[in-house]
Amino acid sequence: MSDATPEEQVFAEAAGRSRKALVTAGIRDLDGLLRHLPHRWIDPGTFTDIRGLEQLPDGEDVVLHVTVVDISSRRMQNRKGQLTTVTVTDNDRTTDAVFFNQQWLVKSFEAGSRLLMTARIQHYRGRLQLGNPTVLTADGEVAKGTEAEQAFAPTAPVPVYRFVKGVKAAAFRRIIRAALDAAPASAYEDPIPDFLREKHGIQDLRTAYWGMHRPRTMEEAGNATQRWRYEEALALQTVLHQRRREHAALHAAALPGRSDGTLAAFDAALPFALTPSQQQAGEEIEKELAGAVPMNRLLQGDVGSGKTLVALRAMLQTVDSGAQAALLAPTEVLAAQHFRSFAQALGDFAAESALLRQENGVVIALLTGSLSTQERRRTLLDLSIGDVDIVVGTHALLSDTTIFHDLGMVVVDEQHRFGVEQREALRQKAGGRTPHTLVMTATPIPRTAAMTVFGDLDVSTLTHMPTGRKQITTHLVSLAQHPHWVDRVLEVVGEHADRGQQSFVVLPRIEATAPDPETGAARPGVEDVAQILRETPALAGAHIGVLHGQLPADEKDDTMRSFAAGQIDVLVSTTVIEVGIDVPNARVMVILDADRFGVAQLHQLRGRVGRAGDESLCFLLTQADPESEAMERLTTVAGTLDGFALAEYDIRSRREGDVLGRAQWGGRSSLRHLSVLRDEEIIRGAKADAAQLLEQDPALRSVPALTRLIALIFADTDEDLIEAG
Ligand code: ADP
Ligand code: MG
Repeated sequence: MSDATPEEQVFAEAAGRSRKALVTAGIRDLDGLLRHLPHRWIDPGTFTDIRGLEQLPDGEDVVLHVTVVDISSRRMQNRKGQLTTVTVTDNDRTTDAVFFNQQWLVKSFEAGSRLLMTARIQHYRGRLQLGNPTVLTADGEVAKGTEAEQAFAPTAPVPVYRFVKGVKAAAFRRIIRAALDAAPASAYEDPIPDFLREKHGIQDLRTAYWGMHRPRTMEEAGNATQRWRYEEALALQTVLHQRRREHAALHAAALPGRSDGTLAAFDAALPFALTPSQQQAGEEIEKELAGAVPMNRLLQGDVGSGKTLVALRAMLQTVDSGAQAALLAPTEVLAAQHFRSFAQALGDFAAESALLRQENGVVIALLTGSLSTQERRRTLLDLSIGDVDIVVGTHALLSDTTIFHDLGMVVVDEQHRFGVEQREALRQKAGGRTPHTLVMTATPIPRTAAMTVFGDLDVSTLTHMPTGRKQITTHLVSLAQHPHWVDRVLEVVGEHADRGQQSFVVLPRIEATAPDPETGAARPGVEDVAQILRETPALAGAHIGVLHGQLPADEKDDTMRSFAAGQIDVLVSTTVIEVGIDVPNARVMVILDADRFGVAQLHQLRGRVGRAGDESLCFLLTQADPESEAMERLTTVAGTLDGFALAEYDIRSRREGDVLGRAQWGGRSSLRHLSVLRDEEIIRGAKADAAQLLEQDPALRSVPALTRLIALIFADTDEDLIEAG
């Protein structure tokens, strides 16, 4: 204990017996404790009595000072856990507050306990209830006397914190108060350098902490919230800038291509002209490949904007420079699809093997875990001696046994996340140099998200569509309102089959769901749907195929091939067909339980039908309530074919946390205050600030607190980042 720092001592003393619970919740030190900021405050002027609740609409938050009358717990039927109903009174009326799974808290109540709590108005079977209660103070927690009285009749705003398991709200507030009182000056060391604080008029850390944790007025609390967004934006942009800088210091092989190489011949043979976007992206990539600083670029564009061609041309420049190119896909199905589309685009330029390679021929191979041992050995051997030019594969590409002759460039699927070790593995495979990297996305990313989440990458965006947008008419079919319309949809599928045009039927699951205990209804699986279609008179004579991720690889391959060859009329599948499959003769996309899919997924699925210029159909079938949020989402998808517009909508309608949180940062960042949409300006400003700061002080010696903040926010995320370097 004697060599504990002042901060450690303050933390230990303030936390007291709750220390273990705090640490378990990720609050490990004084910094972590003070940074556990309230997300709102209860205005002491807003107390309500129970009589007044009847007039309030559902969803309204209220603050009540009540006494417990009765407590009853029961196990929930449809979900795991306990539901406790606490009947409370304000000596005039009574009502019920319902707690889910907070046994440790509820156990401490008894009839007569006094509670200061916030809760949300809700009605259940017509009766008023208080949901999501947060108990701010409960009887017996504070020693009787003035402090207790004060706790029940606060005059200053009461901070409300994210729930820390095992620590009651009142106890947590006491811990924070004690910590603030005793915190040494070092705890207030500011991550934002003075010159930037002054530039933006931002509160210093001490003022902001006190304003958050112990505001005297609601206004003071409001003012204190400003700084955290900027602080996070600065931390984020500093990390991104450092990454860009580190990357720029790495070395890659220069791949200038040849003016008389395969790329030139391939371009000359293209039956169409590149779109202006493809042209521009191509030039950006060409220039970077030719340099010795590794390319680190994101290629994005709407479904059908021609990303594959751009990636392929970059690979050909690589091959023309005498190096190999690899495409890394997240799944075998996707790898196989990429392989097929490359082979198709290469046409006569694709050579079976090095022996048969003509002038300008390119050997392309597929490497996945499901190859036979013999095929695998052969491909690995060819790769290692340089007899394969372009390899498409899954994670198998990164394994120790995969040795490249001379790896120059890697194309990475967006969904694929490179870790530190994998980056190192790639570097090993590229002879100690860093391969040039092109990250490809399946769907567009809104500008603001690209700027933050992919902020360490340069971005090429394909804004043109090769031959105009596809003509796809989307019909939203509400089965809740019109159960029989499903028959009409199947007739349409049948009519297309009769004309030799193919259809997809996509559903969100492989296996049927368990029957609903109340209605007995179950949602069908892939095989069930295929069986129903086989028995549908409108589809008599149509060939029905089945595809999903659990089938053996060769069976999947066979099915895909038969479908591409037109031998299957209707392909019933899961989203394995989501990305990449390009069957021009497919004209109808039927999506079952469409409400189970996200906006980007639906758009991607829909993009699988129809060649530009031909009329195609997409049916979104759903049982969702016509008034539901899901229905609004489906209506939006049905209403536009513009992937960028849908991406914006998607990001707007998702909870913020999903955008900067789990999805893109790989799950462990704790950016809490920054919002991609709302804070675009702040993020942009912070980018310039971070660059200026790092220019003046590359090692951040003047702001050690910023380095600590970065470690706190981005702890452990590195391995999950999409990054090759
Ligand atoms: P994405 O991968 O961006 O969804 P693709 O690369 O699969 O799009 O391209 C969609 C279709 O458009 C493919 O059939 C491709 O051959 C074709 N295509 C690509 N570029 C052009 C172009 N410049 N002109 C005409 N067709 C093109
Ligand atoms: Mg594609």
